[in-house]
This record gives sequence, C-alpha cells and structure tokens, in this order.
Amino acid sequence: MAEATGLTSADGTTRPTIFAEMTALAQATNAVNLGQGFPDSDGPEWIREAAVEAIRTGANQYPPGRGIPELRSSIAEHQLRHYGIVLDPEREVLVTAGATEAIAASILALAGPGDEVVTLEPFYDSHAATIAMAGASHVTVPLVPDTSGFRLDSEALDAAVTERTRVILVNTPHNPTGTVLSADELGIIASAARRVDAVVVTDEVYEHLTFDGRTHTPPATLPGMAERTLTISSSGKTFSLTGWKIGWVTGPAELIEAVTAIKQFLTYTGGAPFQPAIARALTEGDADIAALRESLAQRRDLLVEGLRASGFEVVVPGGTYFVCADATPFLSPDVPDGAAFARALPGLAGIACVPVSAFCRDGSPAADALSSWVRFTFVKEEATLLRAIERLGDLRAG
Ligand SMILES: *Cc1c(COP(=O)(O)O)cnc(C)c1O
Repeated sequence: MAEATGLTSADGTTRPTIFAEMTALAQATNAVNLGQGFPDSDGPEWIREAAVEAIRTGANQYPPGRGIPELRSSIAEHQLRHYGIVLDPEREVLVTAGATEAIAASILALAGPGDEVVTLEPFYDSHAATIAMAGASHVTVPLVPDTSGFRLDSEALDAAVTERTRVILVNTPHNPTGTVLSADELGIIASAARRVDAVVVTDEVYEHLTFDGRTHTPPATLPGMAERTLTISSSGKTFSLTGWKIGWVTGPAELIEAVTAIKQFLTYTGGAPFQPAIARALTEGDADIAALRESLAQRRDLLVEGLRASGFEVVVPGGTYFVCADATPFLSPDVPDGAAFARALPGLAGIACVPVSAFCRDGSPAADALSSWVRFTFVKEEATLLRAIERLGDLRAG
C-alpha cells in the first residue's frame, strides 16, 4: 500500500505517507531515490511474454475467485519443492491481489474488536493499517539491532503473547530490517502461538531473497504449526514484477475458507493474464530467482560498503531489498533524528531514504531506540547505486 505510493488512513485520517513524501521530495530535488523499494529493471522477459501471450489468447475475463487451477497447482508444487509443505491446491491455496490483499483478508477474517494482533516492530506499514481496519489491537515486540542483525526480543515476545492474542503476524525475511529470523527465533514464536492457541500469519514475500547461504524457513514447517499457520507470499519481489500484484495465501482449508469469504468482497478476483504467466514462473523460474538473489547480494555489498565508508553504522541484512543504517554521526540540533535526516538528505547529498521510525508506532520504545536509523533500498541498478555512493561522499565532506 503506502510502500507503493499513496495515502494512509490507518488511524482514520488521510495524509501522505513518509514514502509518498520522500518520493515527491526525491523527484523535486532530482535525488537518487533509495527510499521506495521497487526494482528499476523489470523481471524476466519470458515471463512478461507469457502474460502478453495470455492476453492474446483470451485470458481477459474474471478468473475463478480462488485463482486459476494452474496457478494454484504451481503454488502448491512450489511449497512442496522448496519446503516440503504438502497442500491441496483445491482447498488450501488462495490467489490474491498481491501479498497486500492476502494480509488484509487474513487479518480481517481472523481478528476483530477485543482481539490482539502481535507483530514485530518495526513493521511493514500495511500490517498496522490492516489491524486498525479490523478494529483489533496492535501489540508489538521490538527487533533489537546488534552485530548479527536486528534480533527478536524473546522475553518481550513471551510477555506480548497472551490469551487475548488472536494472531501473531510474522514477517521473515523482514522489511525494513533485512532480518531473516533464525530457527531459534521462529521456535520461540511458534511455541508462544501454541501456548495461547493463536494463528500465525506469515508474510514471506522475500522468501527467495536471502544472502550468504541463509535459507528461509516458513513457520508452517515447524512442529504443530501447519494447522495454525497462514503463509503469504507474492510474485512481485521474487520476479521483479511488483506491479502485477499476484500473491497468495496457503494453509489449512478452514482458515483459507474464512480468508476467501473476505477476499471475495475485497477484489473477488484479478490479474487474469498474469496468473498463467506466474504459474509458469513458479515452476520454470528457479534460475531467474537464483540470478536475482546473486545480483542483489552484490548490490547489497556495494551499498553497505558505501554507507560504511561514509560514516554510517550499518546492520548487514540477511535478506530483502533493504539495509538499515544509523545516521547518528550526521545528526545535529537542526537535524535531530532519522526523520529529519531523511528530509534533509535529498538537499544535502541528492539521495532519498526513509526513516525507520516510519515503520514504528509513534512514541513506542522501538521508535525511540531506532529514532536515528534510516532505511535504504539496494534494488536499483548498479550504476544508480554507484551514483548514490559518490554523492554520499559529499555528505562526509559537507
Ligand atoms: C512489498 C511487500 C508486500 C507487498 O506485496 P504485494 O505482493 O506487492 O502486495 C508485503 N509485505 C512486505 C513485507 C513487503 O515488503
């Protein structure tokens, strides 16, 4: 949602999000936009051609509400091949308008007034907005930066998950921090969910974008979790086709049934010509995924190095499109925190980023702890990153 462009109304007001504000500022100042996380080169041509072909051959009317059978089968097959998860494509797979709709439909289906939904903090903006739309209460557990990444505060998690917890909404690999939750961290989340009989909804849109030999573990694969987990992903990040908005949610038939009942009146269905193209991409696209992962890891290294050389302290991300950096060395009475720094950076050095506090609740302990941090994306062409790094040199000099 807001990550893409527009407006937020999670608290009932309508105002431009920090993403829209930073993008407008980047455009006005001709800055290199490392704020918004979308690729500046499109996904594989053969996948795009498959969608063109689908339009030519008549995939232009409403597809089935649950998604075309071909795509549901290839999603099930993908989950089996990568993770050993066995799914019935008829009853346990639902195609959605991106992961965003899968998240919204899942939370709306499962949580309402009086229920608590637990997320990590910082969190992806649509998670908070959706919890608010459902009328549920949002309880957060901080991720704390250390040398091995932003790590789960396991005591805080245990305290946050209570009998009131209806859903634990997990995101791994995690936006904005780049954390790939470890087996231990996932185990702690899983046992908390089992302890209070909560459902885990997991946003895994960066499942294939992990680095340094790390592998993504879906929470649904942990003991006792398949029956209480809704697993969400999308083709947007995996295939650099973020505008297609083909996502999915998989899990136990009764839960998918409940999510489908909501999805039916959000969009009903969508993306007719993209569905067959993504069905093919999921079965034939492993080499493309590997190439993206490799090139992203190189671009991550490039940006991490450039940021460090400029004086930022950086937590090296284990996955995703993003790196978080501590801007403390650049703060001053005039530029007191990450939000002010993000607003100043286009003018100072011709680069746009976003403050990590935009992914936190106003005034929360995590927002305070991370108030000097900003997020940069490295899902841009190498030349663009090099231009940004050169400009970071001005920041140091200035
Ligand atoms: C980009 C993103 C999404 C949105 O996915 P779509 O398929 O474009 O709707 C969801 N969650 C996270 C963490 C993201 O970064």
